[in-house]
Amino acid sequence: MNALGQRIAALIAAQGPISIAEYMTLALHDPLSGYYATRDPFGAQGDFITSPEISQMFGELIGLWLAQAWIDQGKPARPRLVELGPGRGTLMVDALRALKLVPELREQIEVTLVEMSPALQRIQKEALKDCGVPVQWVTNVAHVPQNRPLLLAANEFFDALPIRQYVKSGDGWHERMVTADANGALAFALSPVPYPAAKIPATRKDAPDGGVYETCDAGAAIVQQIAQIIAKHGGAALIVDYGYDAPGFGETLQAVKGHGFADVLRDPGASDLSAHVDFEALTEAALRGGAAVNGPVEQGHLLLALGITQRAERLGAQIAMERLILPQQMGTLFKALALVPDGSPAPTGF
Ligand code: SAH
Repeated sequence: MNALGQRIAALIAAQGPISIAEYMTLALHDPLSGYYATRDPFGAQGDFITSPEISQMFGELIGLWLAQAWIDQGKPARPRLVELGPGRGTLMVDALRALKLVPELREQIEVTLVEMSPALQRIQKEALKDCGVPVQWVTNVAHVPQNRPLLLAANEFFDALPIRQYVKSGDGWHERMVTADANGALAFALSPVPYPAAKIPATRKDAPDGGVYETCDAGAAIVQQIAQIIAKHGGAALIVDYGYDAPGFGETLQAVKGHGFADVLRDPGASDLSAHVDFEALTEAALRGGAAVNGPVEQGHLLLALGITQRAERLGAQIAMERLILPQQMGTLFKALALVPDGSPAPTGF
């Protein structure tokens, strides 16, 4: 076991089992050895590849989608362009380039990037140093100034947020925890304390024995905050991620390393941890925050509606387009959810 694994085992020895959410936070964000805190995980040399890294078309079309939503709402003054978890900054660079087509918007925006990783913030600063619009960084959505219309994009951000798992077993529901086995190795175990059945939503109640219910409190809280800003000041948010729009009973926590799957508990910090996004839960959170919700629609559907075919032809980017839109590639597992103020027209592609 690596050094972070040993530190987590020592923490468990001292305080008892930890939740999967705590484990994910340590594995991804521990300042010394956390996965995102210490590296650039993207691309062929890295562990996985995301849509903006596959093609510039992705960020361009998202930038233009946000511009269209802004125009549909009567061009509210001085909007703030925000991205959650910008990775290498590629989506934002491509979006800002596309926004040269809408100078009236580009001239008044300020950009805020929400990024917790110091290593990735450095890469983003380099990528955006000549972008021509003011950019600031914050580490938490709560620190995004909330006084302006919001134009927000998030790609593969919500899948990286910590989840909890509850497992149905003979006598009710129990939270799945991370503990250390007799040899000191990290292992999963159910909490002996039952989880109150009243907290399990009606849609999950008929789970089979062994069925898993996952929650992502951080994701719901963030979407609710975004919805509140949009409800109050106007704007739009486009959330793209892989996930499900109807409840399932399987577990979706996964570790990815070198473009393949890895063991979730082995060598924390050395592989990316993520979980499928529950779009139903995010929808409920957005409604609680007071925004109107559109979608989720499949990524392939959205990009086709935004004109990816014509753009791919101009760029000679047929293969990249297929990766983004075909069902057996990223076209259907990835979905998009749109938040706009109540009463605004449905955004393009929804
Ligand atoms: N959007 C990029 C990167 C996706 S990876 C792309 O599509 O290529 C997830 C990103 O979210 C990384 O930049 C990671 O550092 C950031 N991140 C993960 N959890 C975070 C959190 N809790 N707060 C802020 N940023 C976070």
